[in-house]
Amino acid sequence: MAQIDALPPLREVIATHGLSAKKALGQNFLLDLNLTAKIARQAGDLSGCDVLEIGPGPGGLTRGLLAEGARKVLAVEKDARCLPALAEIADAYPGRLDVINDDALAINPLAYLTPPIRIAANLPYNIGTELLVRWLTPDIWPPVWESLTLMFQREVAQRIVAPPGSKSYGRLAILAQWRCDARIVMDLPPEAFVPAPKVKSAVVHLTRLPAPRFEADAAVLSRVVAAAFNQRRKMLRSSLKGLHPDIETLLVSAGISPTERAEQIGLEQFCALARAFAKA
Ligand code: SAM
Repeated sequence: MAQIDALPPLREVIATHGLSAKKALGQNFLLDLNLTAKIARQAGDLSGCDVLEIGPGPGGLTRGLLAEGARKVLAVEKDARCLPALAEIADAYPGRLDVINDDALAINPLAYLTPPIRIAANLPYNIGTELLVRWLTPDIWPPVWESLTLMFQREVAQRIVAPPGSKSYGRLAILAQWRCDARIVMDLPPEAFVPAPKVKSAVVHLTRLPAPRFEADAAVLSRVVAAAFNQRRKMLRSSLKGLHPDIETLLVSAGISPTERAEQIGLEQFCALARAFAKA
């Protein structure tokens, strides 16, 4: 196996620093540095980019990102036990790794970085969707980041890339695909992690589009999509009736049959509906 850097193997790092995995922090570590370098490569050309990593843990992906040429990595880690291991990586890559010991949900680390910015992470599963939704809903578009390369439970990854008509299609697919290209770039079995989680995982790569695929007000689109998928088995004339007194006319004006269900409606139609609501 090729060495990616001169630092000790991750099993040794974990033993030296007593990093027994904590379930409450979603700690499932990647210990194969060739695998973490491969994930880092999925993030695109890192040279000349600042990279935000959430949850570096013992630093396997961090080392991959640095070895793949990131200009700078800013890593946000809640577990203070990981700091000595991360300090060793910072010493091996002078001036290229900064670590913030905090809860990623409590701060805005993007404010500390210089564009171009990419985000890459093997996310703690309990906060992954919340962070993704935050990154996908900035105040203005395009956002400050170029791309997101993120590990999720495979079932969540499928919800992000799902096409209309599929079982996984819903709010997350629309939110992600409205303003990004989203694809699953790697599948990982539970055994890739220590300890092995119960579920399969996948890496999703999202590239921001310069502008939304179809025009719509973000808040209106979000409200319509939320109401439509809250009752996904119902016809739209019924699931959306609380949003407008004459929902049937509004649906027809957006080119949608009132008897269709949310899961059959594509992005373009949802955006047309959001525009009709905004005008009504
Ligand atoms: N990136 C490492 C790897 O691939 O081996 C660790 C991944 S592990 C799935 C998730 C990491 O996120 C853990 O190191 C955990 O301590 C950290 N973490 C959990 N909740 C966090 C939070 N709210 N903010 C920042 N880090 C968090």
